[in-house]
Amino acid sequence: MPPRRAAAIQAVKNMSGPGPVAAGKGKGTARKSTGGTAPKMTLKRALLPVDPLDVDMKEDNPGSLDVSFHDQACFLCRGGGYLACCSTCMRSVCYESCLASLVPSELEEINTKDTYFKCPACHDDTDREKSKKEKKKKVVLTPYYGFYLSASNAPLFNGPLLLGPGSFTTARWREDTSPLLVFHFHLPSLFDKGSAPRVVHERLLANYLESTGKHATNHEITYQDCTFDLNQDNNPNVVDMHGKHVENLVKLMEESRINFKRALIFISTHSNDNTGGLYASEEWSSEITEFFECVITTKFLRYIAPLESTFFFLSCGSTVNSPSVMSEMESMVQKYHINNLFLFDAKALVRDFCTPFIEAYAGSVMLHGFSVSAALTMILQNSQYLGMHAHIVRLSLENGAVLKETMVFIHPSLKPAGNLIPTQCWDCARIRSWDVKVNPDNELEATLKCTGEGCGVEKSLTFPFILDKKMDHTKHQIGRNGKWLVIKGEVQKRKEKNI
Ligand SMILES: [Zn+2]
Ligand SMILES: [Zn+2]
Ligand SMILES: [Zn+2]
Repeated sequence: MPPRRAAAIQAVKNMSGPGPVAAGKGKGTARKSTGGTAPKMTLKRALLPVDPLDVDMKEDNPGSLDVSFHDQACFLCRGGGYLACCSTCMRSVCYESCLASLVPSELEEINTKDTYFKCPACHDDTDREKSKKEKKKKVVLTPYYGFYLSASNAPLFNGPLLLGPGSFTTARWREDTSPLLVFHFHLPSLFDKGSAPRVVHERLLANYLESTGKHATNHEITYQDCTFDLNQDNNPNVVDMHGKHVENLVKLMEESRINFKRALIFISTHSNDNTGGLYASEEWSSEITEFFECVITTKFLRYIAPLESTFFFLSCGSTVNSPSVMSEMESMVQKYHINNLFLFDAKALVRDFCTPFIEAYAGSVMLHGFSVSAALTMILQNSQYLGMHAHIVRLSLENGAVLKETMVFIHPSLKPAGNLIPTQCWDCARIRSWDVKVNPDNELEATLKCTGEGCGVEKSLTFPFILDKKMDHTKHQIGRNGKWLVIKGEVQKRKEKNI
């Protein structure tokens, strides 16, 4: 039997009623969309405990409760409406467009028989795993059937299933809107408004609201900011008061019906140029451990520990550049099970340069389910201003060990060998008079020569880190000439100042 053709779409559109009914047993069950209501996202709604019976879950058929954690949008075309939920992963596929080739009699079979649905990503995975297990030289790909009978695991329909033409995403894509907490700790002088966490929350909110126009049960994103200014000269009890405040916020989150699975934590503060410590108040810096336990607070860290968490320190580079401070930072990562922690090394960090990087991270990793390493090229492509300004340091926890990565942007004319070019010749005061030449045999070496008449200033530029040839590093090409070098492990910063 030939595969179903797109012509069948018409048959579905002409059906009476809005689509398949949300009834039936198996996980292939269609789920009813609850669209129509205006979005409502206030702190009160997100954080206050809600009677578990008083939630929109009751609109669903009891048989569909087990799919309430599934992605709310089709992973192939991002459409919503009635969705088929995969039985082996959290992805969903839409009936309206991607499964539009199903005719009414087939939809009825799906709803009345004990069936399950396998998404194209899982089908593809099965093929690849099977070929690997059978030691095949090439992957043996099999036609896609989609729906299976639970009892026999036999395909429900005779012929393979053709997906609608609207699908555009990669096989590994997800629309992961599982509960997410976005939390911003900041000094009063470093505003919450316009900050990276705010932008990221707004950016993700669209996806959380997309399919239904409001937060669905088990698909909530919550934003919370918390100012700190722990100057004990002004108030000797300020640390306790702040601790109590954070404790109350944690209590509200614990008592809410939202079962947070992951968290993005942002810390906006200054860092001490001499010690690398972080400012716990507008006036005073403190050691890293003290900062974690008094500003972020032990209570909060314990609450976050079981979640998949990423921390962004929007603070200046002296923290990254102090080895002892960084080793303290690493022990915090380990102690509180922080999955990812990002720091930036610019002497005076321009926070808004970090925003596109963080936004791309949130989109690729939190929403579309890619691993950080798989998404890194995409994330760094969005981060050229940041690359001109700062190196990025990532600490991640893998099997209990802390891994360190340093990301450095290089560009033959903008950032030769990873160095910024001074605006002005320091000898003749001409503006951008430089002739830059990168060593054709080694892109990590360059020379800078002033072209100003009568000025002979020349300077050799070297990569700001001592990069051993054996050192594990990857290159991510950005545009025609730029690239990010991602160096794994501990790297030594060069002692001598380049310029
Ligand atoms: Zn779709
Ligand atoms: Zn799947
Ligand atoms: Zn000059």
